[in-house]
Amino acid sequence: DAASTPALTVSGLTVRFAGLTALDDVSFTVAPGSVHAVIGPNGAGKSTCFNVLSGVYRATAGTVHFGDSELTGLPPHRIAALGVARTFQNLALPPHATVADSLLLGRHRLTRAGFLSAGLRLPSAAREERRHRERVGEIAEFVGLAADLGRPAGALPYGKQKLVELGRALCMEPRLLLLDEPVAGMTADERQQTAAVIAGVRDGLGISIVLVEHDMGVVMRLADAVTVLDFGRRIADGTPAQVQSDPAVVRAYLGT
Ligand code: ADP
Ligand code: MG
Repeated sequence: DAASTPALTVSGLTVRFAGLTALDDVSFTVAPGSVHAVIGPNGAGKSTCFNVLSGVYRATAGTVHFGDSELTGLPPHRIAALGVARTFQNLALPPHATVADSLLLGRHRLTRAGFLSAGLRLPSAAREERRHRERVGEIAEFVGLAADLGRPAGALPYGKQKLVELGRALCMEPRLLLLDEPVAGMTADERQQTAAVIAGVRDGLGISIVLVEHDMGVVMRLADAVTVLDFGRRIADGTPAQVQSDPAVVRAYLGT
């Protein structure tokens, strides 16, 4: 039944580049409304996994299901249209746009009239844009950017720019959110704030989250379940406490 269908089912996922197996027969499931962390040393295959889930890379073998919908082989815009949003490890914001306009970009897929007809000043388009701007305001409030809506996103401190990325993904009204290193490069305060926002996305909005993150403190605090990759293989899977004390995980991180 629907309640027991995983939000995401990754099965036997394999990705080969010329001469290199970046992901090797990786399987895991994400419980609905949970934070599922994918961790592992550099080069383990975490970003490759995200790139397959979001349709940027094609799997060599294996399948990905989002609820009952198969994502395997779909292009990024089709996957996004099904309700899967992602952020990138590196910032991808238009430098001069305001925070409000950057967030509004996330509404594009939900816009019926389109921004072109808004430019033509049709009344229906103006109404629709007002509705989107209201929602942008709510999401800005949720991620802690309400006071920054009129500022150029590129002028904000790095941590806040990362929150704009997160807010833009939320503006797509996703049911599954893929976060690639959301606290990388942040100060301790920014990490704290972002972790609280991510917990709020899960607990307040009920959105399922797959989290790739290096910061073990954040992973251990936020994650309901953890999959550990090393050299493209799944070496452990379980609760944060279980994987933390797993000898294979300890070995992978110590590089012995
Ligand atoms: P992680 O995010 O865990 O650090 P990646 O998924 O970025 O690891 O990389 C896993 C492996 O796949 C690395 O050896 C990397 O060099 C390789 N790789 C990633 N993307 C490509 C690509 N587009 N072409 C060739 N090799 C790639
Ligand atoms: Mg990476």
